[in-house]
Amino acid sequence: MSASINSGPPIAAPIIQHLPAFNNKVAVLRLDAVHPVVSGNKWYKLQGHLSQAAAAGKRTILTYGGAYSNHIVATAAACAAAGLHSVGIIRGEAPQQWSLTLLDAQALGMELHFINRTNYRDKIIPEELFKQYPADSMYIVGEGGMGRAGTTGIVAMMNSLPINSFTHILSAVGTGTTLAGLVQASKSNQQVLGISSLKNNLELEAAVHNMLPPPGKSNWQINHAFHFGGYAKHKPELIRFMNDWYQLTGIPSDFVYTGKMFYAFHQLWSQQYFPENSNILLVHTGGLQGNRSLPAGTLIY
Ligand SMILES: *Cc1c(COP(=O)(O)O)cnc(C)c1O
Repeated sequence: MSASINSGPPIAAPIIQHLPAFNNKVAVLRLDAVHPVVSGNKWYKLQGHLSQAAAAGKRTILTYGGAYSNHIVATAAACAAAGLHSVGIIRGEAPQQWSLTLLDAQALGMELHFINRTNYRDKIIPEELFKQYPADSMYIVGEGGMGRAGTTGIVAMMNSLPINSFTHILSAVGTGTTLAGLVQASKSNQQVLGISSLKNNLELEAAVHNMLPPPGKSNWQINHAFHFGGYAKHKPELIRFMNDWYQLTGIPSDFVYTGKMFYAFHQLWSQQYFPENSNILLVHTGGLQGNRSLPAGTLIY
């Protein structure tokens, strides 16, 4: 996969790809294919944040992430496209060798600052930044683009697509922001199923509920059984599945989120979880750039 995006190609409109291997009863919403490096779901989540920043007259966007963060590189790209300055606060001391993700973010104009894990957990803003940018000129986007502002771009994207005939919508879940957007855009006769990538994140249901406009909805749930050990953890069985899934469908996935979601789908499908005549939409949220942290040759794509 190409590492450099420089000024970056534009984001393409997402397509829905039907899978002959599942009698075309299953389709994938290819948010991974809208850009070579920018994760589709992160791009859409950022739209609401960036319009809030614009409305408040703020020209510097500050956010947080790890060295392989899909959100960091997406924020760098979205800010470059909107003509905004971006600042990334990165978890951990500056490494000798920057990851390709960080190099991409930097090439897109993002200013990077490294802070230790304790300060990162507390979401500290390094003192030197306040000297450069007055506090009221900065707009802070939470880790992963989380929060209600993050749902609006997902809702708008879903509303632009022909999705009424689907009975089930599946997506990987991190903060639950994407899921909240999918639920908001869903019809009450559609079931929305989130597959959590985190182990025992028991606050997730409440977080999603809080991002839904009142009175909320009940046509959704989160499955917590497919985390493979926890966030960004993986097992040989998952990697094997991702390669098999690619051979079966031609669709690449990432090991943090979408590989686990496709695996969960495949298990549930094999267990006849989905009633006959179901029409299933699998949301490929992207994240492929993060596979660059795996040793070469791990994946066949
Ligand atoms: C961040 C991310 C998610 C999780 O999205 P949330 O809105 O935080 O739940 C899912 N898939 C990919 C590829 C991501 O990068």
